[in-house]
Amino acid sequence: MKIKNKYLRYFLGYLLSLVLKIILYEKFIINKFRKENSLLCVYFHNPSPKEFERFVKWITYKKIGFVSESEVISFLETHQKPVGSVWLTLDDGWASNLDLVRIIEKYNVPITLFLSTSAVKTGFFWSPIYVSENDSLKEFHTFNYKEKIDIISTIESKFSNIGRTALSVHEIIEMAKNDKISFGLHTHHHLATKYLSQEELYIELELNFKYVSSILNKTISGFAYPHGIFSGNEKEVLEKFNIKYAVTGKKGRIYTKSDPYYISRYGYTSYSFLENISRIFGCW
Ligand SMILES: [Zn+2]
Repeated sequence: MKIKNKYLRYFLGYLLSLVLKIILYEKFIINKFRKENSLLCVYFHNPSPKEFERFVKWITYKKIGFVSESEVISFLETHQKPVGSVWLTLDDGWASNLDLVRIIEKYNVPITLFLSTSAVKTGFFWSPIYVSENDSLKEFHTFNYKEKIDIISTIESKFSNIGRTALSVHEIIEMAKNDKISFGLHTHHHLATKYLSQEELYIELELNFKYVSSILNKTISGFAYPHGIFSGNEKEVLEKFNIKYAVTGKKGRIYTKSDPYYISRYGYTSYSFLENISRIFGCW
């Protein structure tokens, strides 16, 4: 077919070269990633099944492969890279996570879910309500532990009829029947550990650990820092609960030299699929 309009011809040529450039660049990025002795941890909160499946399907189609929590622990200990490279994690314990189980089963994907247990108990998360009333958590972080707990308790009683947004005990037990799903801690009240003393962190982990252990008969090895932030002094307290690793909100890959208690991750955001892929695989 001969295109007579000169400008249309230029434009189509430009589009074609752009598409080729993107395809070649994607191939280059993925090949580079495969060769590197590193793993990639991606975290979600409450993704829609559609966007979660799209991501899982893409990783499967590109033959990048997934790793489980135990494979990541083994990689950090032995420095032997497993077959797959991407570790999926879910933070908080949103009720909608239950809809992901059929996708986890369909693609046989391992995933680790970090539970904040006060939300499991009350049925909802206090922080989105606090943020909607106060714009951010900036001031909240400056309060002492007692003040924080008082604010959370007030929100929990005021909004007790809001309806469930967090997983229930029954739903967690259902999810735990799948061997591909492992569970970790996330503090009881979803508090940033950066602003807690060692004693307060101990209280938060003890409440969290006891609640999760009362629901599940599974070994708990991991922890995710609420809000992704940390002080750098948490390791000592985490070890008291036999926690072998902790994941942060800091962007980056997992290397053999990575500190297991401050693991980097990439968050899957509400931006477009292509933008997420580009960010996660280091295009920008
Ligand atoms: Zn969280």
